[in-house]
Amino acid sequence: MNYNKKSVESVDVKGKRVLCRCDFNVPTKEGKITSDKRIVAALPTIQYLVEHGAKVILCSHMGKVKVDWDPALSLKVVADRLSELLGKEVIMAKDVVGEDAKAKAAALKDGDVMLLENVRYMKGETKNDPELSKELASMADIFVNDAFGTAHRAHASTAGVADYLPAVCGYLVEKEVSIMGKALADPTRPFVAILGGAKVSDKLNVINNLLEKVDTLIIGGGMAFTFLAAKGYSVGKSLLDTEKIDYCKDMMAKAEEKGVKLLLPIDTVVAASFPNPIDGPIEVKTVDADKIPDDMEGLDIGEKTRALFAEAVKSAKTVVWNGPMGVFENPTLAKGTIAVAQALADADAVTIVGGGDSAAACEQLGFADKITHISTGGGASLEFLEGLELPGIACLEDK
Ligand code: ADP
Ligand code: MG
Repeated sequence: MNYNKKSVESVDVKGKRVLCRCDFNVPTKEGKITSDKRIVAALPTIQYLVEHGAKVILCSHMGKVKVDWDPALSLKVVADRLSELLGKEVIMAKDVVGEDAKAKAAALKDGDVMLLENVRYMKGETKNDPELSKELASMADIFVNDAFGTAHRAHASTAGVADYLPAVCGYLVEKEVSIMGKALADPTRPFVAILGGAKVSDKLNVINNLLEKVDTLIIGGGMAFTFLAAKGYSVGKSLLDTEKIDYCKDMMAKAEEKGVKLLLPIDTVVAASFPNPIDGPIEVKTVDADKIPDDMEGLDIGEKTRALFAEAVKSAKTVVWNGPMGVFENPTLAKGTIAVAQALADADAVTIVGGGDSAAACEQLGFADKITHISTGGGASLEFLEGLELPGIACLEDK
């Protein structure tokens, strides 16, 4: 995949109607936005378009639309917040490609900003229906994709519309693609990848692809136990994907063949059961990875493992991290995740964090500003690491 895409700066936007797909899929509670991070992340592109005299038509999805035109998923709350952040009016359309949206789009003056309603109100959106793509395109002269979080989906507003308009990326997509694209295509070495989280199966293809690229692959979190089982250890009540044990054996063999150092936990923090509530008090002890008692469950990496992983990160020049090392939601079980976050923060390296929970962990634990890049796209960043082509990026014009 060619990551060298034209950006908003490569086209003349003055006086043009620019349809800009953003990721305004913000969390809300009782009709209020609980984090406006994604809106803030979209500001550079929107501000550029406004300052360069474009007529800006923004669109996005929010949530999973199950009830037709569910008012709880209206983007009106986003328009209000965006208006505050921009310090100017954001015109809210009552529909997506209906009469109201079209009339308002036609009446825009240079530098005006409007927002279409939730694109997923239209059934054709997730089906990538060309009729919807054409309708969206009919309102604009240029398409800008700045929604990295949905770039792995071929939907009408993320990819389909690019069939009918000149299509370029916004600053957010450009940043994601240039940092992650470079790390994968031409990393400064040593290149260390760290994988964790709950499920091996979700990250199978990532492991396979990363083994082609990295010098060291570190595996922690819940997914490490299937690897430990593949080594012949018993893992007690720990997360285990029995169907993937052979796959893990293959991956260990592949690492050996490629000369990739594969690091697995050498000790683990265990408890009698998963904490309930997840952040509630819990009694734990640390055991060697080959001595997990049958009636216990591994919930974090142990102290020796923390030191081993941190040491491997220390000399790295590129680090990619996806998936927490333990049940970090619980303070007693957050030490492994903190140790890895700290190692990234201390490393003299390009450090990239992808994955929703890993990104949340970095922020929650206070490391966010010491990381080179925290990806805004969980699923999209994983597919990127898998080496897959992202439809929302592939559809944009090459430089
Ligand atoms: P990401 O969103 O960063 O890709 P995942 O969704 O794959 O990460 O996994 C995150 C979850 O994995 C967290 O909720 C965490 O509690 C859980 N987890 C990590 N280690 C373990 C473990 N040893 N046992 C059970 N769950 C774990
Ligand atoms: Mg997750």
